[in-house]
Amino acid sequence: MTYFTGLRCVHCGREYHADEVDYFCPACGYHDGILDALYDYDSMRKEINPATLAGNGNRSMWRYLPLLPIADQTLIPHLQVGWTPLYDAPKVAGELGVARCWVKDEGRNPTASFKDRASAMGVVKALEKKASRITCASTGNAASSLAGFSAAAGIPATIFVPARAPEAKVAQLLIYGAQVFSVQGTYDEAWELCMAAAAEFGWYNRNCAINPYLIEGKKTVSLELVEQFRTLTPGSFPDWIVVSVGDGCTIGGVWKGLKEMHLLGFIPRLPRILGVQADGCKPFLTAWRDNCGLAPCDANTLADSIAVGHPRNFSKGMRAVTESGGAFVSVSDEEILGAIPMLARKAGVFGEPAGVAGAAGVKRAVESGIIGRSETVAIIMTGNGLKDIQSAIRAAGNTIAVQPDMEEVRKAVNTAVTV
Ligand SMILES: [Zn+2]
Repeated sequence: MTYFTGLRCVHCGREYHADEVDYFCPACGYHDGILDALYDYDSMRKEINPATLAGNGNRSMWRYLPLLPIADQTLIPHLQVGWTPLYDAPKVAGELGVARCWVKDEGRNPTASFKDRASAMGVVKALEKKASRITCASTGNAASSLAGFSAAAGIPATIFVPARAPEAKVAQLLIYGAQVFSVQGTYDEAWELCMAAAAEFGWYNRNCAINPYLIEGKKTVSLELVEQFRTLTPGSFPDWIVVSVGDGCTIGGVWKGLKEMHLLGFIPRLPRILGVQADGCKPFLTAWRDNCGLAPCDANTLADSIAVGHPRNFSKGMRAVTESGGAFVSVSDEEILGAIPMLARKAGVFGEPAGVAGAAGVKRAVESGIIGRSETVAIIMTGNGLKDIQSAIRAAGNTIAVQPDMEEVRKAVNTAVTV
């Protein structure tokens, strides 16, 4: 059963029964009126505790059903999402200058990104509402993820992506059978167009910032982290959880999941959160550093998944860092590109630019004195490297062209610089 009790506006504090509102607080509007899902944690403890979860054989995000806002389990699509691997990465720790480092490979989800956790939740809520169609705007991963999950759930999808979305992600959309609008503009413009279309045609809106249920899917990554660390390092938990930041929904979900597991007694203390942005698009960092409100900016970075100049979930994103006593940092595109082969060669994990930005951010945070060299970090690697081959090839170097002639191989081997 679920212990979900309703929704509360993060801006004005008004509470709503789930049947009263679909997306945002009507009193505050969709810019400010972001809603938080509420649960009866006291009653939940008998069903969600270390002993019951240890005996739970479900190896997917649905092992946490009592902590999710779902009443009818029969609507859950069959694709396996979540319970992704967590790797101890000592060579990465050495490279980044920290005592210990773990990498959670979210590229192992069904459509190869973290966003599957949100899309799985989105299609269930759309089916609950008996929606005729589901829609979202996305820089790429949320779109390909929604396409995959709507195909699995049997509900049509219409998706708006900016023209710059990487080809591999667009290919996923089309293969899964979504209707795709390639918006000749920015992600922010695609988002506004999607919002208008959802309102006009009555489609179910999967946009994470205004849909309070999506972040509930995203938080499951933290529920898993906590359980996995109970096995890997009993009695301790990393000092920092690191994630790249675009709209603010992912980092907000990560923080909510950690707080819930702390409240339920799984971890003795909460970690700090490091939010990593790109130098060319860092509205969260600017607002946090200057202690001011959101000032939308341009989005100049090759890390398309975090190229968000106008974050739609500013409040939850800021809350994750301020409440945890954490920090925001930004990294250059060159640092992001450098982190792709670093993570691949030192941990065997191939990530897309936004996926590896967290690793680049740790290095920057250590150099700035934000993270101490004796501290430990867990990096959430949010998307697989095959999502953006152009960036990977830029980062990886060239092949050695030879004729089918052993003499040429011999010559190349003898002169090659060892990698
Ligand atoms: Zn409100």
